[in-house]
Amino acid sequence: MANIPKVPKIPKKASESKASKGFIYFLIGLALLFGIYSLNDGDKSNIERVPISQVVQEVKQDQVKKIQDDKGNLTVELRDGKKQKTQIGSGQSVTTLLKDYGVDPAKVETLDVVESTDASMWVNIILSILPFAVIGFFLYFMMKQAQGSNNQAMMFGKSKARLFGPDKKKVTFADVAGVEEAKQELNEIVDFLKNPKKFTDLGAKIPKGVLMVGLPGTGKTLLSRAVAGEAGVPFFSISGSEFVEMFVGVGASRVRDLFQRAKKNAPCIIFIDEIDAVGRQRGAGLGGSHDEREQTLNQILVEMDGFEQDTNVIVMAATNRPDVLDPALLRPGRFDRRVVLDAPDLKSRVSILEVHAKGKPLEKDVDLEEIAKHTPGFSGADLANLVNEAAILAGRRNLKKVSQSELTEAVEKVLLGPERKSHILSPKEKEITAYHEAGHAIVGHLLPHCDKVHKVSVVSRGQAGGYTWSIPDEDKYMHSKVDFEDQIAMMLGGRIAEKVIYGADNVTTGAENDLRQATKLARKMVVEYGMSEKMGARVFGHKEEMVFLGRELGEHTKDYSEATANKIDDEVTRIIGEGIRKAEKIIKDHTEKLKTISKELLEKEILNAAEFEKIMGGPKKVAA
Ligand code: ADP
Ligand code: ZN
Repeated sequence: MANIPKVPKIPKKASESKASKGFIYFLIGLALLFGIYSLNDGDKSNIERVPISQVVQEVKQDQVKKIQDDKGNLTVELRDGKKQKTQIGSGQSVTTLLKDYGVDPAKVETLDVVESTDASMWVNIILSILPFAVIGFFLYFMMKQAQGSNNQAMMFGKSKARLFGPDKKKVTFADVAGVEEAKQELNEIVDFLKNPKKFTDLGAKIPKGVLMVGLPGTGKTLLSRAVAGEAGVPFFSISGSEFVEMFVGVGASRVRDLFQRAKKNAPCIIFIDEIDAVGRQRGAGLGGSHDEREQTLNQILVEMDGFEQDTNVIVMAATNRPDVLDPALLRPGRFDRRVVLDAPDLKSRVSILEVHAKGKPLEKDVDLEEIAKHTPGFSGADLANLVNEAAILAGRRNLKKVSQSELTEAVEKVLLGPERKSHILSPKEKEITAYHEAGHAIVGHLLPHCDKVHKVSVVSRGQAGGYTWSIPDEDKYMHSKVDFEDQIAMMLGGRIAEKVIYGADNVTTGAENDLRQATKLARKMVVEYGMSEKMGARVFGHKEEMVFLGRELGEHTKDYSEATANKIDDEVTRIIGEGIRKAEKIIKDHTEKLKTISKELLEKEILNAAEFEKIMGGPKKVAA
């Protein structure tokens, strides 16, 4: 079975600053100038230099066609096309000079004398200014940098809240699917924001804080924005972790600043994401960061208590750990309203898929309900991602519309990571993988409490060499002891198949993740679910919340003796042992089927449910 790693998204950063771009242009300009200068220099050196007296002679003999005067540098063009150069004192006029040398004034008048300001003169000017320009530029550049960091230092106390104005791409309740109860709860808030007077006239207190509780991606942020959108008010959004930075005292002043801005913009909503980053129980911290957190938290409480009766600002905060929040936050008059967002059920998943499929052209064969059935446990964000991946896939295939096959493939991609066709296994490794996956599949198929096998594959995906994908017929919220026992046997089915085919000495590392998961589940059965007859229906140990430098350490603390610990270990080993026995019996009884399936897998790489069930001789018999 495959491990499902969550891949963090790395935000792209714009790296090129305008200043450095400007500097590059400046250098290019400089290089060009030098180029022009040396070119100019080059063609001058080809021309013959003559004394001024020779030029006077030539003028007298009528040989000169044209004289170009560039600040005393004369270029003389003769009638036969030859060119000469000579020099006179700059500031001197050529015509006066010629007359002084005794050339007939009438002749001088007819002479074509051009006072030119050619490129080289400009180059001279620029070159003389250049050093100053370069120094000036660097000074300016450095000052700007210094100023920038200065500004940043001054900004520390300011909140970094992002403002979504009422006019900016409005999100409404229609954009949030499948959370009807939550919407009903929040309708009241929308009413308050739209028409506060209606309530204050009756002496009703306007709610101040709403706590949105739910796992990541269940739409807490989206729904809060929708409240602002429905009421047509601004939405200030900040994350709890942004309050707390390296510098002490920053958090509290950011809170002050944020609330001030919000009050100026009332009616409005302040949204604090991950409130647990600042709102943990006070005194729960280890190390330096907790003081800062406490100050920030206190400031939030002070601000919320300080709202006037008619301050129409509502603070919405999101968390998935309401249990760790400081009770002071939850007192009446603070975050006393709670809206819980569950992982979406089948019906909600269909409607979330519909919301996100809107605006994307779909093929007629698309059956969103089918997709919803295959995605138990997916959050709203996962589903949004799925639809997007499907559209990308369709784009890569140059299709005009998204069809069911892209959607199905996107489910697997979101679940297991992208296919890695380039991850080449040797033929031997491929064969082992095929037996391994066939082992999972057969055990899963034949044990009544396992989910139905949906697909078996030996194409690498994410970290898995191959995978067996099974899906329950309907969403399950409760699991029984037999479910877990069968599940553990199925997890071990891969390793057992390897053992039966290749012998106990040749089993591979491919089963590492299976073994880890099976052991974890067995241990949970004993210490958390009270599912061991021998140990009794009780919980062992408790999870202690500790915060060290802002990081959470979910520590399992023992509240039992070493002797009990030994017994727990024995029980875990026993449960695993039973799973192994169960799997081994099935595999040994069905070795022929195992061989057929792995052979098919090596040929086709993927077996779907129908193909698999055909080999197994019929559909899965599920437990009543
Ligand atoms: P949270 O704040 O709970 O972590 P978000 O509100 O940021 O989750 O949700 C992330 C994305 O997931 C949303 O932008 C939206 O595209 C999608 N999403 C989540 N829940 C829903 C829902 N109920 N209906 C439609 N889209 C949803
Ligand atoms: Zn496996």
